[in-house]
Amino acid sequence: MTEHEKKMKEVFRKAASNMCRGELEGETAQKEQKASLKRDTCLLGAIAGDTIGAPYEFDCNNIKTTEFPLFNRASEWTDDSVMTVAVAEAVMAGFAGDHPDACKPDPALTEKAMVSSMQKWGQAFPYAGYGSNFRYWLVDKNPKPYNSWGNGSAMRVSAVGWAYDTLEEVEKFAEISARVTHNHPEGINGAKAVAAAIFLGRAGKSKAEILDYVEKTYGYPISQMTCDEIRPAYHMDESCQNTVPQAFCAFREGNSFEEVARLAVSLGGDSDTLCCIACAMAEAVYGIPAEIQQETVNRLDERMLKALVRFQDFVACK
Ligand SMILES: [Mg+2]
Repeated sequence: MTEHEKKMKEVFRKAASNMCRGELEGETAQKEQKASLKRDTCLLGAIAGDTIGAPYEFDCNNIKTTEFPLFNRASEWTDDSVMTVAVAEAVMAGFAGDHPDACKPDPALTEKAMVSSMQKWGQAFPYAGYGSNFRYWLVDKNPKPYNSWGNGSAMRVSAVGWAYDTLEEVEKFAEISARVTHNHPEGINGAKAVAAAIFLGRAGKSKAEILDYVEKTYGYPISQMTCDEIRPAYHMDESCQNTVPQAFCAFREGNSFEEVARLAVSLGGDSDTLCCIACAMAEAVYGIPAEIQQETVNRLDERMLKALVRFQDFVACK
């Protein structure tokens, strides 16, 4: 049995046992079961969104409809997934300092690990579709932030939303994950808003509460936009400020993980990244249907899958 078959078997086993527990012990157990299921698959939401959106990236491939096969031969993970895994590893490394309380993450250690982990993973998968500035940064011996406001900071941040215990910590470490490259205020805002949404979703807040917090704190005009209004004129745009609010609209209007993914792709633009961001947030609210987990894991590189499982175990043990 391959590693990912083992992993999927384990996911389904846990799902089944949690479901039994939910049936036996009523509503509280069902709530706990839902939270635990989300912890078991955390991070796969971003990777699934990237994989689902990949065939439709760029204006020439945009489809502007929610009717499409969720997975086809061109559905594959890209740079969004590689960097999501890289950030997850850096997050874990940040807990390995000699702080007297081993559960406390070390900001300086985390920041250093962000750079080394992204360079390590980026060099391991050099053709995953990085932007040109980031490509240079990945091989720079003395890498410095380059004031980017690209959507890369928001697409890679989801581990931060899962790993920390308070909203304050999540926002602080989201900023750290962004600023090693994306130290422009918009680059930082995008990462913080997405990580905060994941944290709030994971904490059981409603979508209305999440969107209200994000709109007030980060100033994205989410309530003034609908997917139908965005769709006709929206084009390829790799900025945070013109990807993150659109992802929030797909997240708001979709009533399941799959609906959010379909709406995100239907907007067009930078489809893999928009779908990656929207699905990372959808996962924290809805979890991921088993078939989508399976299709995503089946396509994932073995090294990335191993890192993903390490992160899921880390979150489950916290
Ligand atoms: Mg990509």
